[in-house]
Amino acid sequence: MPDPNGFLRYNRRLPARRPVPVRITDWREVYPPAGEWLIREQATRCMDCGIPFCHDGCPLGNRIPDWNDLVRTGNWDAAVESLHATNNFPEFTGRLCPAPCEAACVLGIGGGQSVTIKQVEVEIADAAVARGGLRPRPVPAPTGRSVAVVGSGPAGLAAAQQLARAGHAVTVYERDDALGGLLRYGIPDFKLEKQHIDRRLAQLAAEGVQFRTGVTVGVDVTAEQLRAEHDAVLLACGALQGRDTLETPGRPLRGVHQAMTHLVAANRVVAAAAADGRPALAVLPDGTPIDAAGRHVVIIGGGDTAADCLGVAHRQGAAGVHQLDLYPEPPHDRDAARDPWPTWPWVLRNYPAHEEGGDRVFAVAVQEFVDDGTGQVRAVRIAEVTVEKRDGRRSVTVLPGSERELPADLVLLAIGFEGTEEQPLLAQFGVTRNARGAVDTRPDWQTGADGVFVAGDMHRGASLIVWAIAEGRAAAAAIHAYLDGVGTLPAPVDPARQPLAAR
Ligand SMILES: Cc1cc2nc3c(=O)[nH]c(=O)nc-3n(C[C@H](O)[C@H](O)[C@H](O)COP(=O)(O)OP(=O)(O)OC[C@H]3O[C@@H](n4cnc5c(N)ncnc54)[C@H](O)[C@@H]3O)c2cc1C
Ligand code: SF4
Repeated sequence: MPDPNGFLRYNRRLPARRPVPVRITDWREVYPPAGEWLIREQATRCMDCGIPFCHDGCPLGNRIPDWNDLVRTGNWDAAVESLHATNNFPEFTGRLCPAPCEAACVLGIGGGQSVTIKQVEVEIADAAVARGGLRPRPVPAPTGRSVAVVGSGPAGLAAAQQLARAGHAVTVYERDDALGGLLRYGIPDFKLEKQHIDRRLAQLAAEGVQFRTGVTVGVDVTAEQLRAEHDAVLLACGALQGRDTLETPGRPLRGVHQAMTHLVAANRVVAAAAADGRPALAVLPDGTPIDAAGRHVVIIGGGDTAADCLGVAHRQGAAGVHQLDLYPEPPHDRDAARDPWPTWPWVLRNYPAHEEGGDRVFAVAVQEFVDDGTGQVRAVRIAEVTVEKRDGRRSVTVLPGSERELPADLVLLAIGFEGTEEQPLLAQFGVTRNARGAVDTRPDWQTGADGVFVAGDMHRGASLIVWAIAEGRAAAAAIHAYLDGVGTLPAPVDPARQPLAAR
């Protein structure tokens, strides 16, 4: 039985973030561990609802009330077991998920204070490591069937682990020099230190998953070769085609880059420093610096990627940072008429990076990247705008006379992604991108090509880690059935499943 008065006795509390002046001098995670008593207190707030809407908010169907109660009563081993029953990588979601479960928590109705579900999750995940490490699960006798997984992001890794644990021989192919997908070189260390990925990879390897890095499928290995060597293929190549703004005057200037170009370079510097201890400047593959040190940085975009660029720019020592958003400032609280509970609300999202500095400018659009006369950007010319949806299309109106310049030596485009990249692998497997740039599936996660499955951002479009893991698990279940595996594997979502929405 849960504590029926827990939420009356305790308010929602999170651990204090590390102080800004300290944390922007390093790349360590922003949140320190919560401590056992704080997290048990917070877990006590869970009411163990008869209909736990938090379940519906979570694509993984995490057993949230169960593990909240196990934490409340100090049953850490059982909590670890319960959490891993539905989620292969809670150390990633606990740190990074925007937590649709918390938006759906019954305690959040009418502006109430939802349970700190995500914080409880991360503490359980870390307890698993502290209490003996991520031990490999015993794998059954080999089935003699083999699966190729293309892409080592959370979708590919979740599928690989599920399939290996069912006795199939799994090989993960990754074109990068290190595994993890966007978790490795997209998301900065101050959100996810990379030892969490490495620990999990060691567990997968011990469970029999083979990894081949530096291999671009479609180039270094053809689809034909892969199909000849394996009984099924899962494509989990992400949605890494960055949206651009080629029509904006001055776009070709030096100093204007895709956000991912900046983030990957910065993450590589942190990884190299961790390996040999030497600090270095972030550079492009051709050696051109892309470091924010001493520069005026303008970030265009309002989402996760933009916030990550902001945190990186401050840690690199930017002279100043502006973050521009096309849309007006969202409300601070849920607008129940627009986004009723338990749906995901449109509200102002303040990431820890926002308390580290920089200016956010809403309802503006870039009119021009301004040349310093040498082909290098020196400013962006912006104008105030209103945005309307007409016939389902976005219409942007500039307010006359509102134009002004912001100084800029480094401009980062964080304006979204246009689906999976057009690359040789697609034609070789006989799959095509749809109008959203994603790859469609049949209800059993197979693409148009027999035995070729797809999951994660490559199927869904740029989304979240929790969806990638859920789709990886579900696609693994479909592959297991396709290979005539014994029994069934859990399939938390089907390809048509959408987040909770009012319309
Ligand atoms: C900067 C940034 C920050 C983010 N922050 C968050 C966050 O805080 N919380 C959250 O929930 N989500 C966040 N996301 C989204 C999240 O990272 C993705 O939804 C998730 O990683 C998708 O997982 P995936 O496995 O489908 O693909 P990815 O993680 O993109 O992995 C795909 C992998 O496939 C590889 N690949 C592609 N083509 C080939 C090929 N031909 N051969 C071999 N390998 C190939 C790629 O190199 C890559 O490693 C963020 C995204 C970005 C860009
Ligand atoms: S909805 Fe909130 S209070 Fe209810 S079971 Fe889920 S976490 Fe607990």
